[in-house]
Amino acid sequence: MKTDKFAEKWREIRCRLAKPQWWKQFRQSMANERLSPEALAEFNFRLRLDLLKFAYEESPYYHALYKAAGLEPGDVKTEEDWAKVPMLTREALRYNFETIKVAHPQSTYKLYTTGGSTGEPSKVLKDDGFSSVVMNWRAGTWTGVPVGGNSATIMRTHHATWKTRFRHFLANFPATNIMLDAGDMSEEKIERFIRQWRHYKPRRISSYVGGIHQLAVYCLQQGIKLPAPDAVFTTAAPLSSTVRADIVRAFGCLVFDNYVATEAHPMANQCRHLAEISSPALHIHSDYRHLEFVDEFGTPLPVGEVGDILVTDCMDRVFPIIRYRLGDRGRLLPGRCACGRPFPLMDAVHGRSFDFIYLEHGKIAGECWATAFDDCLNAIHNFQIHQHQDKSVTLSVVMNHAYPDAEKAIATVAANLQRQLGSLPLTVEYKDFIPHNRGKIKYIISDVIAD
Ligand SMILES: [Zn+2]
Repeated sequence: MKTDKFAEKWREIRCRLAKPQWWKQFRQSMANERLSPEALAEFNFRLRLDLLKFAYEESPYYHALYKAAGLEPGDVKTEEDWAKVPMLTREALRYNFETIKVAHPQSTYKLYTTGGSTGEPSKVLKDDGFSSVVMNWRAGTWTGVPVGGNSATIMRTHHATWKTRFRHFLANFPATNIMLDAGDMSEEKIERFIRQWRHYKPRRISSYVGGIHQLAVYCLQQGIKLPAPDAVFTTAAPLSSTVRADIVRAFGCLVFDNYVATEAHPMANQCRHLAEISSPALHIHSDYRHLEFVDEFGTPLPVGEVGDILVTDCMDRVFPIIRYRLGDRGRLLPGRCACGRPFPLMDAVHGRSFDFIYLEHGKIAGECWATAFDDCLNAIHNFQIHQHQDKSVTLSVVMNHAYPDAEKAIATVAANLQRQLGSLPLTVEYKDFIPHNRGKIKYIISDVIAD
């Protein structure tokens, strides 16, 4: 425990020296945890009203958008009024970068590009005045996993210059962070990483879902048992129940999911209680982010109903994100978490709203099939459903050979899917591994051109 205390203090000192403002914001964010759910909602609503006024006055894009809709910021007085604020679409964000931007000379910000998974890259600026680091630190306190000690990262890594390497060393000092490039996971690289893992015994693993899953399956298939870390933190893609089960089986530790997007950075995280019960639920950072689950017209849906997710980043004053349609689908969950925190719960994000499965008669949202194996999670390591242009479907499966009757369980799932497809053909392919796209897994792929 001595090292933990030291590491915690060291992090605080570093932060207070380098970013005193972030530290202050972190303290404030921790104080918000003591608010009641009602006070928290009120806090968030006030932030949104300030943001709306700011965007109307300072951002040419929003000014024109709201003018055209006949909306003045003063018109918004209640949550019902808020639902009338026009949404920001992905296309609008993509083509109006220059006019959405509010660049004051004193602003500090970073540029990010997004859209790898959708194939439509766009760019956003994120305000450094209020850093998402603050919410990541807070989410860290939710996990009950101590800071300090060695750690590991499986993401895209670029440590080309001595400067970045030195900064990386300082950020982790006095511990070591070992890294595996999720974009280059050859057997040789994995084996090297496993040797480092045995030597440094990392306590916290941060990884793209696809990266840690590939490593987990490799270890399970080769019978490799690594020293158990305290926790795995996944990011960049929804964590399905199959993948979570594999990671738990391979590393014997808690797995924490989160919900992030380049346009709004962290939006929701899991607390220790949710990870312990392997729940798919996440706490929304509902003080600084506002998430809405809406129908196609932008009208909020009741708790429990799946809809398109809209996000408002209440803190960004450089590139306002207001009622932005992320392209993900999800829902609010009823009730409170046993941990007692006031932040509302959302279900794990199911998938992109534009992936559909076409059946013989009509279509269903792809998310309906993303849970196809939930009843026999241990029978497989991974799966992918690919619907081709002619509407035939290939179900690729990485079978768990250690599971008795795995083949039978897979056949049952396939038969169930076939029943839904009707006369459209379904082929089952057994694979050793399903490649991820730089750490991101797509469970449902459709080549069907919508008519
Ligand atoms: Zn909780």
